[in-house]
Amino acid sequence: MTLNEIIALDKKYHLNTFGDRLPVCFTKGEGMKLWDKDGKVYYDFLAGIAVNALGHSHPVLVNAIIEQAQKFIHCSNYYYIEPQAKLAQLIVENSCCDKVFFANSGAEANEGAIKLARLYFRKKGFPEKFEIITLEKSFHGRTLATLAATGQEKYQKNYCPLTPKFLSVPMNDIDALDHAITEYTCAVMLEPIQGESGVNPANVDYIKQVRKLCDDRGILLILDEVQCGLGRTGKMFGYEHFGIEPDIFTLAKALGGGFPIGALCAKEPYASAFEPGDHGSTFGGNPLACSAGFAALSTIINDNLCDNSAIMGEYFINELNSLKEKHDIIKEVRGKGFMIGVELSQPKAVAIKLKCLEAGYLIGSVGENIIRMLPPLIITKEDIDGYIAALDKVLSEI
Ligand SMILES: *Cc1c(COP(=O)(O)O)cnc(C)c1O
Repeated sequence: MTLNEIIALDKKYHLNTFGDRLPVCFTKGEGMKLWDKDGKVYYDFLAGIAVNALGHSHPVLVNAIIEQAQKFIHCSNYYYIEPQAKLAQLIVENSCCDKVFFANSGAEANEGAIKLARLYFRKKGFPEKFEIITLEKSFHGRTLATLAATGQEKYQKNYCPLTPKFLSVPMNDIDALDHAITEYTCAVMLEPIQGESGVNPANVDYIKQVRKLCDDRGILLILDEVQCGLGRTGKMFGYEHFGIEPDIFTLAKALGGGFPIGALCAKEPYASAFEPGDHGSTFGGNPLACSAGFAALSTIINDNLCDNSAIMGEYFINELNSLKEKHDIIKEVRGKGFMIGVELSQPKAVAIKLKCLEAGYLIGSVGENIIRMLPPLIITKEDIDGYIAALDKVLSEI
């Protein structure tokens, strides 16, 4: 099929949730590169929104999926599942949590976290503790509860009434959080580094104060690490930048290296609040997803991709700051590791994204003022240099 034929089919048969997409359709990928129908090469600096941590078609991931698919793809959670048990062990041994539950997406993992926090207090004899405080400009997913948790009106406004008992307060304002906590609060849920609102890292002092406040007031701290977790920011988990540990955290995006899987990770005694029958999933934790997850996470660990993210991420941010000296349109470069947002002084983000696409580079935009880069963790200095040169040219032309 030609690109135009595919566009016509999509417009006719797919719900219009994605509007006019970027006019390209990929046919194959390898490492940093994707190829379109005409054989044009693109360097992927978006990685499927922080998903393709190992780049495209990494042989370890591909082989794990093939091998498992050849054995069997799915069985119910009525039975013991070896890849599920092994992936849970790998996550626990490399993080602060004690137990893991597998879901199919980030939103679903967050739903599980919300349910667990409420259930923990109900089982302790505080059924009135069901409220969760989140942060403004946060993003926690598109299901009704995670939408209510998301502190951005643009996602919520057409779905009122929202699932009750979520409220959001401004980030980096500990007094606002302090005042919002009541006898009804069971948890604070936040992204230590906000992704979808354009890469906004929380202050280290603030997160330390949030941790202390949660301890003092006897409520749980849930971190949404769906985007910032698993090496994205130069450390295995976002919370490692802040010198604290959450009670519950969630993972998804990079966990399967492209295969859909999410995880709810909890410390004891909170994890034990889920007892048989309290939560479940048909697909969650299935053999294929967990084999992909085990391959992706063990490659992130074995190939020291966190170090590459830390070292090359710093190089990347420095290079972007050099471009800032040259181009007034760059207002601020934000982020950690390979989670990078560039705020512009003019509303040209979409135009820049399109010019980059023409030049063979895939990046993201947030609104009209921020461009975002979330490259695979395997990226090299040469790849970064190539993009910086291309962006330099795009910014001169814009
Ligand atoms: C992407 C994202 C989600 C939602 O994940 P889905 O897999 O799309 O449901 C939740 N939280 C954060 C921080 C995210 O970046």
